Amino acid sequence: MSVLVWIEQSKSGPVANSFEVLGKAREIASAMGTQSVAAVVGGDTSVSAAEAGRYGADVVMTLSSPVLADFRLSAYVKALRAAIDAAGATVVLMAATVRGREVAAMLAGELDAGYAPDVVDLRVDGGKLVAVRSVYSNNILTDVTFTSPVQVVSVRPRSFPMPEAGAAGGESKAVDPGVSEGDVKETLVEVKSTDSGEISLTDASIIVSGGRGVAQDPAKGFELVAQLASVLGAAVGASRAAVDAGYIPYKHQVGQTGKTVKPDLYIAAGISGAIQHLAGMGGSKIIVAINKDGEAPIFEKANYGIVGDLYQVLPALSAEFKKRMG
Ligand SMILES: Cc1cc2nc3c(=O)[nH]c(=O)nc-3n(C[C@H](O)[C@H](O)[C@H](O)COP(=O)(O)OP(=O)(O)OC[C@H]3O[C@@H](n4cnc5c(N)ncnc54)[C@H](O)[C@@H]3O)c2cc1C
Repeated sequence: MSVLVWIEQSKSGPVANSFEVLGKAREIASAMGTQSVAAVVGGDTSVSAAEAGRYGADVVMTLSSPVLADFRLSAYVKALRAAIDAAGATVVLMAATVRGREVAAMLAGELDAGYAPDVVDLRVDGGKLVAVRSVYSNNILTDVTFTSPVQVVSVRPRSFPMPEAGAAGGESKAVDPGVSEGDVKETLVEVKSTDSGEISLTDASIIVSGGRGVAQDPAKGFELVAQLASVLGAAVGASRAAVDAGYIPYKHQVGQTGKTVKPDLYIAAGISGAIQHLAGMGGSKIIVAINKDGEAPIFEKANYGIVGDLYQVLPALSAEFKKRMG
């Protein structure tokens, strides 16, 4: 028995959300009286393995092979099955990133394991794992328990804080991933990067979002949103109304049918606070709303509210933050 976490890697190194999950896995493992195991899969696993040790995994398992150099679902699932066998893992956790969701679902299917997707909290009750999921636009939290011997969970990014780094480093174990090119069902044709240097919404600790309130001059409105975001080192978000109106691409949409975010600070400008928008950002630590209607529902959710015209408030905030932050 052990609690295994898949440490996802991207081209630029380990995905930080995996370490948030690892921090919680250590807590879960200790409550179950067992070990936390970090499993790193890839062509080169050295950097991520060292990081997993620093973040306190009891055991760091590496599954390295040139066949695993690029992410291919069937190969990664096979390698993780080898890790689960080697660790005798009964709880398998990973971040609910795009890849994490895919891997968790296929892994659970192959293992005939119970799967709780996109959970926001985890605890141990009577020695058993309980996964907490947020449903009905964040209005209800449900406890999920498992009847299967192996339990697979994907964890919504930023549900847990980053653990302290600096542990001595756990036991290292190289495990044969048992994959050969012949086993892999996918062929990688080409990788096209869409990275435009923007801060990713789901990783951002600060988000500045704009809504239909920019309708009077959408280009100017989102320029002001982007300006404040740039001063604060924040990502740019949007409501669906702004996306549907063509003011900004869909990848910026926050909400029930967009991205779920959990930044430390969420600034909503010209957004009314519809339940479907709140579903995507209601877990933010601090919410600041800018709206010219003092009765807008967003103010019920906001920690701080500014009643005013965003075309005046946003540049004033940018100028003031610039001054104070040097
Ligand atoms: C199935 C379903 C899924 C949905 N999914 C999502 C989703 O993922 N994300 C999402 O956001 N929505 C979603 N919606 C849409 C949602 O119901 C709302 O229509 C939408 O969030 C409204 O966007 P908004 O707040 O920008 O616009 P509005 O509701 O029109 O609000 C605009 C606000 O701007 C203020 N304003 C206007 N001018 C100014 C100004 N100059 N300065 C300051 N404030 C100003 C107004 O007072 C108003 O409060 C979904 C709806 C459905 C039915």
